[in-house]
Amino acid sequence: SLGAEWMIDWVRTSAAVIADHRVELITLDREIGDGDHGENMDRGFSAVLAKLDDLPADALPADVLKLVATTLISTVGGAAGPLYGTAYLKAAGAVAGRVELDGGALAALLRAARDGIVLRGKAESGDKTMVDAWTPAVNAADAAVGQDAGAAAVLAAAAAAAEQGAVATEPLIARKGRASYLGERAIGHRDPGAQSTALLLRAAADVAG
Ligand code: ADP
Ligand code: MG
Ligand code: MG
Repeated sequence: SLGAEWMIDWVRTSAAVIADHRVELITLDREIGDGDHGENMDRGFSAVLAKLDDLPADALPADVLKLVATTLISTVGGAAGPLYGTAYLKAAGAVAGRVELDGGALAALLRAARDGIVLRGKAESGDKTMVDAWTPAVNAADAAVGQDAGAAAVLAAAAAAAEQGAVATEPLIARKGRASYLGERAIGHRDPGAQSTALLLRAAADVAG
């Protein structure tokens, strides 16, 4: 099982991966949005990184998630800021009080995050949003738990499903967010928020394994 140290590692790696993929996310958002998703996410995770040292030594995984949530809400802006902020806040609620997270707790964390995004943004599967990466990830995590997979295997299953989900947004027409203004012109382009979700979940799996 995984504790606060893993959670902090996940956040650090997320910040590094988002910085590395900043231009990729900007390019995706330029195709079907306003071109700021990489900038927004990099600003947010850089701010999170700067605040990690303020965490007390006895911080729980939920405290780390709450710090990410409040920081993303106040620094990312756009559509993605409140959506990811809600995701991390609900994820924190799902693991409140826990010191160590096993596969089941991680699957519950991912489900709570996804549910928060849906509650906030009202997107359904197939609307060409980050939900199309989150929902397959949640389902894959649950399936892995059903097969008694450990924490790292649950995260690996979630990451692979999120990556497939992000790719699968390419042929879709968008029904939420800026890309929905484009109609059929959104076809052939990957949703930037689905791609950032895949990057964040891959980081979680990489740090666990
Ligand atoms: P903005 O569109 O305000 O510039 P970003 O570019 O940072 O914000 O984020 C865009 C991403 O937000 C999209 O690629 C999509 O994944 C996600 N998104 C937008 N609206 C919604 C929604 N209602 N539900 C879920 N995700 C959404
Ligand atoms: Mg944008
Ligand atoms: Mg914008």
